[in-house]
Amino acid sequence: MIGFDLTPEQKAIQERARRFSKEEILPVAAKYDRDGTFPVDVMQKAHQEGFLTPLVPKKYGGGGLGILDTCIISEELAAGCMGIYVSIFVSTLALYPIVRFGTEEQKERFLRPFCSKYTLASYCLSELTVGSDPASMKTTAILDGDHYLLNGTKMWITNGGYADFYLVFATTDPEKKHRGIASLIVPSNLEGVSHGEPIDKMGQRASNTTAVTFKDVKVPKENLLAGEGEGFKKAMAALDITRPMIAIGAVGIARTAMELATQYAKKRIQFGIPIIQHQAIQFMLADMAKDIEAARLLVYKAAWLADQGMRNSKEAAIAKAFAADIGMRVTTDAVQIFGGMGYTQWHPVEKLMRDAKVIQIYEGTAQIMRLIIARQMLREVDLKWEKSSD
Ligand SMILES: Cc1cc2nc3c(=O)[nH]c(=O)nc-3n(C[C@H](O)[C@H](O)[C@H](O)COP(=O)(O)OP(=O)(O)OC[C@H]3O[C@@H](n4cnc5c(N)ncnc54)[C@H](O)[C@@H]3O)c2cc1C
Repeated sequence: MIGFDLTPEQKAIQERARRFSKEEILPVAAKYDRDGTFPVDVMQKAHQEGFLTPLVPKKYGGGGLGILDTCIISEELAAGCMGIYVSIFVSTLALYPIVRFGTEEQKERFLRPFCSKYTLASYCLSELTVGSDPASMKTTAILDGDHYLLNGTKMWITNGGYADFYLVFATTDPEKKHRGIASLIVPSNLEGVSHGEPIDKMGQRASNTTAVTFKDVKVPKENLLAGEGEGFKKAMAALDITRPMIAIGAVGIARTAMELATQYAKKRIQFGIPIIQHQAIQFMLADMAKDIEAARLLVYKAAWLADQGMRNSKEAAIAKAFAADIGMRVTTDAVQIFGGMGYTQWHPVEKLMRDAKVIQIYEGTAQIMRLIIARQMLREVDLKWEKSSD
């Protein structure tokens, strides 16, 4: 059976996240967007609420929530400000591989302190010359006695300037491509770790994005996550779980854009009537409503599959690709409904449009999502037709 009702627990966390978004995020969203500074105060409060650690099991002090539960929280936070939400979300991206693949000792050493005290973490996969093709990464981790010697620069790292530790992907043998990649937990206070200045971005300006450099950093062997050569699989497994959480961010942005555009259309008079009475405007709003609903359902399905322990690579990619595209379309149409006003900083819809754009780029671009979908779909079709021709 399929049910579309949220459980009482899910309704309660949704309500808590909605209140936090309304009281703590929304009132400061424009300020942090304008200044391009990092909202430390909001982040500390979000940590207290447990929004940085929803997937960490309760036994380490985390929320012990599921992936669908986390998506429900995420939509509400992103509806307030995607830049602030993504700063909160990135900790889950870095922590989830430890939850899933870490040893008991690593969980005690990294997860427990993270939950008890305000801490931030980053996920370091991309490099300046290596984005969509991370298997070609240049950062190296060479085993040298009881430690790995880590060298290289990671690029576009969210929370890069504030993280207490980084989950870093590096190659132990470039010849082996993805089979040579390891993931290491790297505390930011180790000698040789440094980060660049915040990158001045088009949108999501409350989030802190920097380069992070590792120069002859001695990372203890005990900080290797899973086996050497297992890093790439782990990175991709984490992305299957976190893509729905980014996709639902686009739903949150789109929802806010639709609500603002609807309110404006009711008040704005042209040709003697509110513009909402023009059918062309109503159709734009109707398209927004249907796209948002469809995107949310795709996200819920991808998240639900992951909660059941089932593979969701294709569904996560479908949800991410679809939601990112509708996020862009809905926010662009919201600017259209606002007319000239929409193109100014007097109204928040231009921010929503800028914030939406990067969702088509990070966590795998729109094109890479389609590659994943196509590969899996072709495999399924081949299998089906092989079976039927037997
Ligand atoms: C604000 C922001 C925050 C980020 N945060 C993080 C982070 O915390 N951690 C992290 O590791 N990374 C992060 N990233 C990096 C992000 O994941 C990459 O930007 C993304 O993967 C794309 O890589 P690229 O920018 O190198 O583009 P490229 O890979 O160079 O792609 C350029 C274009 O070519 C297309 N393309 C590439 N290959 C193919 C192909 N095979 N078929 C068709 N088209 C293709 C792409 O879709 C894109 O349109 C962040 C990026 C931004 C902008």
